[in-house]
Amino acid sequence: MRIAVIGTGYVGLVAGTCFAESGNDVVCLDIDERKIERLQAGEIPIYEPGLEELLRRNVHDGRLRFTTSYAEAIPQAQVVFIAVGTPPGEDGSADLRYVLAAARSIAEHMRDYTVIVDKSTVPVGTAAKVAEAVRGVTELPFDVVSNPEFLKEGAAIDDFMKPDRVVIGATSQRAFEVMDELYAPFVRTGNPILRMDTASAELTKYAANAMLATRISFMNEVANICNRVGADVDLVRKGIGTDERIGSRFLFAGVGYGGSCFPKDVKAVVKTAAEHGYDFRILKAVEDVNETQKRLLYDLVVGHFGSDLSGRRFAVWGLAFKPNTDDMREAPAVVVIEALLAAGASVCAFDPEAVEEARAHHLGDRIDYADKPMDALKGADGLILVTEWNEFRRPDFEAVKQQLKTPVVFDGRNIYRRKTLEQLGFTYYGIGC
Ligand code: NAD
Repeated sequence: MRIAVIGTGYVGLVAGTCFAESGNDVVCLDIDERKIERLQAGEIPIYEPGLEELLRRNVHDGRLRFTTSYAEAIPQAQVVFIAVGTPPGEDGSADLRYVLAAARSIAEHMRDYTVIVDKSTVPVGTAAKVAEAVRGVTELPFDVVSNPEFLKEGAAIDDFMKPDRVVIGATSQRAFEVMDELYAPFVRTGNPILRMDTASAELTKYAANAMLATRISFMNEVANICNRVGADVDLVRKGIGTDERIGSRFLFAGVGYGGSCFPKDVKAVVKTAAEHGYDFRILKAVEDVNETQKRLLYDLVVGHFGSDLSGRRFAVWGLAFKPNTDDMREAPAVVVIEALLAAGASVCAFDPEAVEEARAHHLGDRIDYADKPMDALKGADGLILVTEWNEFRRPDFEAVKQQLKTPVVFDGRNIYRRKTLEQLGFTYYGIGC
């Protein structure tokens, strides 16, 4: 099939590459000229494991190309995916400016019946708004489909190639059939393609992210009482996770969720509910708990060293909002580091992939960056672990101790064992254990 993907971010680039990999002819379009120039030169603007190899192969085989021109991408396309950003507006609702601008540009350049697919995460009612925007420009026939994306950054290729399910919201049989054909190669092992109306498809994506965020905030609250009653959240996690109704995944306590999706999607559901006269109390609490949790590491540091941190220096391991990505949107590391700087401390950070992103867009030169994890520790008063990259899991603790001025570890992801570290002479702080 001939496909166009609008927006070459984490979702668009992965989707475009994977559709090319399954034999389609794909054009990826972005209005960011610099991004497209880099892609045309064979450079990948984001870090996503496995993407580079797949993208190069498909470009080489002629199934994947990049452009900034709607006139080039749209006229031939049978299916056009909208995968642009939907950032939160000031009131928490999803900002649909980019989605609707893309819809109008598609309408201006389509030449025949086209299936226009909302891949971006959008509030209920957006498919109807997109249809209205297209109808305002062209009289050609089209269908608007809601096909939310469930990939996880850091495992995006695998998630896209082998989805647990594909959700398709549409109003016409023709559109359902086109989408079935397109996704057939990805569900050969029997995972379902779920057909539904567009409102249900749109809400499915928000409900999934809201449920996952709720599990995180719930476990963080359990961790916070563990601290107070002398229980170990890791044992409680195993204890409840073996109940099949609960399941063991996504139950880890930590320093709160971040990223481009959970924070904005939780806000957007609360806002959608309010617009329809409903107060979504649980999700308000989920958000509230998360905001407090993001500062917890800082509170632990202050509990240990006192509130005046001037002259203190801290090593931070992990800047990305989670491992295996360079994405720092809403990253807890930024909250912790900002709080440390405001209290007079200095920071040296290490991250395997996110340093460039941190320097360019989040922390600039206000902190130092190390090339290796051990280098960040030199002369620091303590180690603060924020992101659980695999390479942080088994450090040489004797070497860690030698580098640090005082042997204190603040483990924001519970990846170390208190007993082991205390035996080695460290003071250890975990999250509920
Ligand atoms: P992103 O910010 O990485 O990329 C969006 C891209 O769209 C940018 O490159 C931007 O330049 C481009 N763009 C904006 N307006 C455009 C226009 N009119 N025409 C062409 N290009 C345009 O965003 P992302 O993380 O890929 O997320 C995209 C959508 O997918 C969001 O709605 C998000 O909620 C959703 N989503 C994201 C993830 C994730 O893990 N990142 C997972 C599932 C769903």
